[in-house]
Amino acid sequence: MNNIEPLTSWINQADLQKPIVIAGPCSAETPQQVMQTAVELKSRGINIFRAGIWKPRTRPNCFEGVGKKGLQWLQDAKKATSMMMATEVANAKHVELALEANIDILWIGARTSVNPFAIQEIADALRNVDIPIMVKNPINPDLSLWIGAFERLYNSGVKKLAAIHRGFSTYKKIKYRNEPQWQIAIELKRQFPNLPIFCDPSHICGNRHLIEEVAQTSMDLNYHGLIVESHINPHEAWSDAKQQLTPNDLVKMLNNLVIRKAEVENEELLNRLSYLRTTIDHIDNQILDLIEERMEVVNEIGKYKKVNNIAVFQNQRWNSMLNRIRKNGKLKGLSEELVSTIFKAIHLEAINRQTKIMKKHLD
Ligand code: PEP
Ligand code: MN
Repeated sequence: MNNIEPLTSWINQADLQKPIVIAGPCSAETPQQVMQTAVELKSRGINIFRAGIWKPRTRPNCFEGVGKKGLQWLQDAKKATSMMMATEVANAKHVELALEANIDILWIGARTSVNPFAIQEIADALRNVDIPIMVKNPINPDLSLWIGAFERLYNSGVKKLAAIHRGFSTYKKIKYRNEPQWQIAIELKRQFPNLPIFCDPSHICGNRHLIEEVAQTSMDLNYHGLIVESHINPHEAWSDAKQQLTPNDLVKMLNNLVIRKAEVENEELLNRLSYLRTTIDHIDNQILDLIEERMEVVNEIGKYKKVNNIAVFQNQRWNSMLNRIRKNGKLKGLSEELVSTIFKAIHLEAINRQTKIMKKHLD
């Protein structure tokens, strides 16, 4: 995907300063709600409007969007405000209707980007059409699936592409509706540095009170922009009521964000940073050396267990080891999440090695 077009090819120069903001209600509900939200956002300097017309809902019998009549409302809002209009498409018919209605930007939702058939259908419907497409991460934390969606669109000739990071479903009890898993988006950025990336703090948080914190993290990670849900009367919203901000609160939140420089220009700072980075690289190598050494011991234990016919996994040993490590980690000011993640991964590798050793019964 070497020829993804830069944001300058589809976002007005005036809106290109960081962050680029796309805002609007989760769903278009009534012509008045769409018009009033658009007018209020525009008057506060927002120039790109979002509203869902076709809403993928987890359970049936919920509000599933107003459907194609909402396209006319978006057209009216566009005429009145000259904002760019963005909406979600989930199949070829949606694409066809949205294109007829001159929608400016399409996005593909998280429940659609999980499905390669649906993405291929949308990609086929977009062949020879020059419109920006934003792809939300799939609901499950599968980077290849997300990349696959971009590749399908790109192969159909869509070159104005951008990613939307909206977090991932999780069975864990966490404060967010969807777990950010920042490392997945960071890896996407690493592999495709020319793919613009937006954060959707509304769907990550599921709760308006957390939005600023997540938006700030995305700015610290140098995302290009934000897509945020905004409703004139959030408490009465027909979908996602808890996570929407009034246009006023949206702007307050945006004004609180600290936007840092992407690159270091000052020579002295650069030298200091480069020294610290070299130190980090050196420490990382030491960590690898230690893990290697630890795995050699793991192999020894594996052989010993085999000879003496002892099971690979002992629950009690693992529990006491994890508790000890968590306690020591805490004393060093390391979060339980970090310590558990590292040691669970190391332990899994150890188990895998020892299981392999057990299987080599003919050695
Ligand atoms: C939305 O943007 O309103 C939406 C349905 O989001 P997601 O696909 O991220 O759930
Ligand atoms: Mn929503």
